[in-house]
Amino acid sequence: MNDIKQQIRDFEVDERGYYGNFGGAFVPEMLYPNVTELRERYLQLIAEPSFEAEFRDLLKNYVGRPTPLYHAKRLSEKYGGRIYLKREDLCHTGAHKVNNTIGQILLAQRLGKKKIVAETGAGQHGVATATVCALMNLECIVYMGEVDIERQAPNVARMRMLGAEVRAATCGSKTLKDATNEAMRHWISNPDDTHYIIGSVVGPHPYPDMVARFQSVISEEIKMQLLEHEGRENPDCVVACVGGGSNAAGAFYHYLHSPSVKLVAVEAAGLGVDSGHSAATTALGKPGVLHGSRTILMQTEDGQVVEPYSISAGLDYPGIGPIHAHLFETGRGTFLSATDEEVVDAAFELTRLEGIIPALESSHALAVLGRLAIGPDEVVVVNLSGRGDKDMSTYMKKMGL
Ligand SMILES: *Cc1c(COP(=O)(O)O)cnc(C)c1O
Repeated sequence: MNDIKQQIRDFEVDERGYYGNFGGAFVPEMLYPNVTELRERYLQLIAEPSFEAEFRDLLKNYVGRPTPLYHAKRLSEKYGGRIYLKREDLCHTGAHKVNNTIGQILLAQRLGKKKIVAETGAGQHGVATATVCALMNLECIVYMGEVDIERQAPNVARMRMLGAEVRAATCGSKTLKDATNEAMRHWISNPDDTHYIIGSVVGPHPYPDMVARFQSVISEEIKMQLLEHEGRENPDCVVACVGGGSNAAGAFYHYLHSPSVKLVAVEAAGLGVDSGHSAATTALGKPGVLHGSRTILMQTEDGQVVEPYSISAGLDYPGIGPIHAHLFETGRGTFLSATDEEVVDAAFELTRLEGIIPALESSHALAVLGRLAIGPDEVVVVNLSGRGDKDMSTYMKKMGL
């Protein structure tokens, strides 16, 4: 009995914020009050019926949930089995990220916060945050690396149109990790009225668990929808891309304790795992502390964070959430990677086979289908985390346009 209990708890966060050897809350003393307030109140607040009702209502009527679970017949013909796509690309704002920002803005309101701060790399999380701030009429400041502001002009324009203030992070490499540092600093200086919305299952406890819970609606829906399609709740395999790991955590969540369901996480190999231009964290990384939690991250011999690279801005992150570090270490998750070239090919393939233009991030999950040796009776769910509109310039280059 104890053994079973232990197993059930194995992939859940413990009281100290750990998944096995990973997690915790490594934050400067100045942040203790904020993080402590969140840790002490998040479970109780999200369990309140009024929270649950408002969260569900917004997911349904604002985000457009449940998103379809689509049986991709032509893709299945090519790779075998029955392949289903969980259509997070059809969420309002074009990706799964809004599931989390809706949850966190409702939490921020209940904590009495008037202002929101966030960081963004490609701008996708910034847009999802600015969107819910407009919806709830809360002030929004988004930190973004100066280099990223130039690279991601359309998302910067969206955030500004939504009423957010986009502030440039001008230190270091002027990219995501510098924006994260600035956002943390801002939170330290404004602890009373500001909530910090983190965009993935990363950061100090309780963020990874909180974000995973908000995204867990994905696997909650997969279970019900698969029961309709297949007469069973469990697929043989769930595949998702991993940047920080929030869409994967959401797609895996209700299957973590079902060992018959294979969980496949796909990281960005960039130009190749050993090319020096990669974001394949589990292949290249070692344990260390990043953004407030102990996890696996890409680092030099002396512990400096290595600048990651991927064609997809959303996977261009030097670490993974602690839950994924634990899934990797225990072998519960299978970690693969796909190169830029494989990913672009997979994006064109899905487009031509099914008439769906996927995000580059999501295409990482599609790119490994040929390696899974899917049996004729197997059911595979691919989490299609986002749509490809934002990646059209990359796709146009590929077409010589
Ligand atoms: C941001 C993003 C990701 C990566 O973030 P996770 O936290 O790993 O899910 C994946 N897909 C899309 C479409 C994104 O915008």
